[in-house]
Amino acid sequence: MTTARRKKSEPELPFWKTKSLAEMNPQEWESLCDGCGKCCLIGLEDADTGEIYLTDVACKQLDNTTCRCKDYPNRKKIVPDCIRLTAKNVPRYKWIPKTCAYRLISEGRDLFWWHHLVSGDRDTVHQANVSVRGKTRPEGRLKVQGLMKRITKWPAPLEAAPVKRKRVAKKAVSKTTSGKKAKT
Ligand code: SF4
Ligand code: SF4
Repeated sequence: MTTARRKKSEPELPFWKTKSLAEMNPQEWESLCDGCGKCCLIGLEDADTGEIYLTDVACKQLDNTTCRCKDYPNRKKIVPDCIRLTAKNVPRYKWIPKTCAYRLISEGRDLFWWHHLVSGDRDTVHQANVSVRGKTRPEGRLKVQGLMKRITKWPAPLEAAPVKRKRVAKKAVSKTTSGKKAKT
């Protein structure tokens, strides 16, 4: 006779691994945004191929220093064509960046190391070269020809967290040239 061993209770999985976008509550949904700002860039679509080319020109409401919308709660009033992502429309929009957490979850993929829900740090999205912080210019009167000149090859995200350099504590050296200790 054999007896089945009791399995140790496994750690609870985080919500983005167990829920679909449609199942997330408003807090979970909002926390999924990594703050990269890429969805606030102006993109150009190739009419023949459907390919989207991102520029470095951002919506006038994107704060270039924080990489956040200047007035997120009122964004639709200020910028009527700002699109509110939903569980339904995320799979339809090709322009959503490949690194966007909503896109990743809707495609059944996991979040990357630099996502703040994984790293525990809101800064890793910037450290990983994913965000557009400090790299955009506000939209002005540029027409398509002008925008085409602003098409930007955004860098690929770092695959792993950069190794932190250890600070080497420098020994205090007394200012004597003879090797004698300075008198205090
Ligand atoms: S692309 Fe996605 S993750 Fe990045 S700011 Fe937009 S909604 Fe948030
Ligand atoms: S209004 Fe805000 S959220 Fe909408 S595209 Fe502009 S900066 Fe982004």
